[in-house]
Amino acid sequence: MVSALEILRVPVLSDNYVWLVHDKPSGETLVVDPSVAEPVLAAAQARGWSITQIWNTHWHGDHIGGNPGIVAATGATVTAPAAELAKIPHVDRPAREGDRVRLGDHEAVVMEVPAHTAGHIAYHFADDAMIFVGDTMFAMGCGRLFEGTPAQMYANMRRFEALPDDTQVYCAHEYTLSNGKFALQAEPQNEAIADRLAQVEAARARDEATVPTTIALERATNPFMRAQSVEELASRRAAKDRG
Ligand code: ZN
Ligand code: FE
Repeated sequence: MVSALEILRVPVLSDNYVWLVHDKPSGETLVVDPSVAEPVLAAAQARGWSITQIWNTHWHGDHIGGNPGIVAATGATVTAPAAELAKIPHVDRPAREGDRVRLGDHEAVVMEVPAHTAGHIAYHFADDAMIFVGDTMFAMGCGRLFEGTPAQMYANMRRFEALPDDTQVYCAHEYTLSNGKFALQAEPQNEAIADRLAQVEAARARDEATVPTTIALERATNPFMRAQSVEELASRRAAKDRG
């Protein structure tokens, strides 16, 4: 039996979360989607953790901006989507659908989930019941469709929905309050959304984070996962974009 991973949320920029994942037995520490280097290095140092790996979900600057500084300071290796190598400097390990990537004895499987960007990937640790989804899914929301289609996002939601209930979902932004308000507009009769929105409002008023979330919670409250068709997802995404 492998020991549990330790996870640390590092809030940076206006609303990004960078995730540090530490595996004690191997001494490895992973950073997922470092927007910037300094606060991440400082957070690792405060714990006495040495960063050994960086995993990127997609090429946007707020997910890779810290790569060079962290690599320079630690020699960490970089795993990133194979389809976005042209946009992400110095990738050691291009990652494709079904690839297995490791942190100590823990293994994650790469899922290609295009839509927010064309090469976006997620990292699913099945045995640890957790997934890093970048900007594909958020608590009660989904990423904007910058380089993909509603049909692709709909397909991504089917894959996430199929994961076990208790899977912890680590997304890359604190968008839950805005997403929750939209979710209640999209499904005014949904009591689970109303209840969750009230909890999120209280948490944010205390300046608390609202992620990670879980697959079970998203199934009950995420209007994009709950969309019954590609068309419904498309119209909800368009309505949210209009704000
Ligand atoms: Zn993004
Ligand atoms: Fe982002």
